[in-house]
Amino acid sequence: MIRLLVIGGSDAGISAALRAREKDPSAEVSVLLADEYPNYSICGLPFYLSGETPDHRQLAHRTAFEGIEILTNHRAVAVHPAAKTVDVTHRGVP
Ligand SMILES: Cc1cc2nc3c(=O)[nH]c(=O)nc-3n(C[C@H](O)[C@H](O)[C@H](O)COP(=O)(O)OP(=O)(O)OC[C@H]3O[C@@H](n4cnc5c(N)ncnc54)[C@H](O)[C@@H]3O)c2cc1C
Repeated sequence: MIRLLVIGGSDAGISAALRAREKDPSAEVSVLLADEYPNYSICGLPFYLSGETPDHRQLAHRTAFEGIEILTNHRAVAVHPAAKTVDVTHRGVP
C-alpha cells in the first residue's frame, strides 16, 4: 500500500494528490496545507479584489476531494527523508 504525504494544497499539491489516486485508487494520500483554502485559485484574487467575484469561496477550483485527507492549517516545518517523517505545526501549535 502506498502512503503519500503532499505538502501544499494549492494547484500543484492537489494535482499531485489527485494524480496519485488516479494511478492507484488504494493509495492513502494526505495533503498538508498551511492555510485553510485547498485548491484555491490565487490567480482569481484580482477578480475578488475588483468585486467581480464577490464571494472569495467561489475562487476554489474544487471543494470535494474524495479519498484524499485534507489537513488545513498544518504547516510543515521540517522534513526528515531518511525517517520518512515530517514535523508539523497546527495553527502555530507544535
Ligand atoms: C494575483 C496572481 C495572479 C496570477 N495569475 C496567473 C495566471 O493568470 N496564470 C497562471 O498560470 N498563473 C497565475 N498566477 C500564478 C499561479 O497562481 C501560481 O503559479 C500557482 O498558484 C502555483 O501553485 P502552487 O500549488 O505551486 O503554489 P501556491 O499556489 O503558492 O500554493 C502553495 C501551497 O503550499 C502551502 N504551503 C506553503 N508552505 C507550506 C508549509 N510549510 N507547510 C504546508 N503547506 C505549505 C500553502 O498553504 C498552499 O496550499 C498568479 C498568481 C497571483 C498571485
